[in-house]
Amino acid sequence: MTVNLLEFDSEGLASFCEGLGEKRFRATQLFRWIHQRGATGFDEMSDLAKSLRDKLSGVAEIKALPVISEQVASDGTIKWLFDVGGGDAVETVYIPEVDRGTLCISSQAGCAVGCRFCSTGHQGFSRNLSTAEIVAQLWYAEHELRRRAAPVGGAADGTRVISNVVMMGMGEPLQNYGALVPALRVMLDDHAYGLSRRRVTVSTSGVVPMIDRLRDDCPVALAVSLHAPNDALRSDLVPLNRKYPIDELLQACTRYLEKAPRDFITFEYCMLDGVNDTAEHARELIALVQPAGREGVSCKLNLIPFNPFPESGLKRSAPDRVQAFAHRLQEAGIVTTVRKTRGDDIAAACGQLAGEVQDRTRVETRRVRAPIRSQPAAPALQGPRV
Ligand code: SAH
Ligand code: SF4
Repeated sequence: MTVNLLEFDSEGLASFCEGLGEKRFRATQLFRWIHQRGATGFDEMSDLAKSLRDKLSGVAEIKALPVISEQVASDGTIKWLFDVGGGDAVETVYIPEVDRGTLCISSQAGCAVGCRFCSTGHQGFSRNLSTAEIVAQLWYAEHELRRRAAPVGGAADGTRVISNVVMMGMGEPLQNYGALVPALRVMLDDHAYGLSRRRVTVSTSGVVPMIDRLRDDCPVALAVSLHAPNDALRSDLVPLNRKYPIDELLQACTRYLEKAPRDFITFEYCMLDGVNDTAEHARELIALVQPAGREGVSCKLNLIPFNPFPESGLKRSAPDRVQAFAHRLQEAGIVTTVRKTRGDDIAAACGQLAGEVQDRTRVETRRVRAPIRSQPAAPALQGPRV
């Protein structure tokens, strides 16, 4: 069986080359060919010893994911659907902006967390992606977009297209930790994509022990999907909260900040009409992140207008409601932004990624189908014990 070299970070590739009886520095050349040049075959690696090329062609390959479809939104957002086998397919989204290009990458086929407002969560869970499958999304997007940017008939000049990566596609990245970390290392590696830690963001629904491990193993920018200012509501929206309640989550955020590349955590808050968007919820949220008498978590709030999908039974908060909520947080001195919805005409916006997932957890039969009710904020304002 051949090994897919997209599976390796530079250390892994060096060990693999050593196993072939080669010097470790050869691995750096190979790594650059794969990730900086987008090489697909060993023949084109002209400065690599012929003996190594011969050895590699017998045991290794650079295997991309088959593209099932590509859709381009009116705002230039591109969504690819990649086949990962076994009836599963995952989505990757490229979001062009004036000063950056962001790639939103999937980490799992489906997701086992099952948040009520998330299309991926509604589909259930099939399996974790491998490091190669995570990296292949970036490898393909970067080199494909470079080719398209090249002058007609000319070669791509190697100028980077993707400047930021967000692990905000399908899946909970911190429930696929073993595959995630080598993939992050490839993104950061100067011999590969050379992205700065500040421009690689892991978004999590709050897997507390893995937040601690990420801090020690590979601290990148962290976004935490908060979505509610109290445990009762958060447990309803994000079931993982029953295992790791808000208090523990905020303490993990504080610990993460000791090594984080940015001096704040981004809290994501999906704005759901009548569910978590009232003035009382805003007050409760402020008290949560700025508890009286002690230090809170250094954070920014990113409000995401809910992107609807048919099965959710939820509605997006009206724009003036979102603005009023944002205003209340800003008045309290919390840096708050409202996320622009991108690519919603091709269902590429946050939470709309559904791909194709063979649910192996029967999430739909387990799910409590009770319609969500509007919930008042809890009367007692309890902050975290930090
Ligand atoms: N599993 C990770 C990352 C993927 S989801 C996480 O939950 O953080 C990326 C972001 O999109 C999260 O903040 C998530 O809560 C949000 N999201 C999910 N469904 C959404 C929807 N329908 N509308 C708006 N945002 C949504
Ligand atoms: Fe999973 Fe994130 Fe969707 Fe929740 S919001 S179901 S954690 S992908």
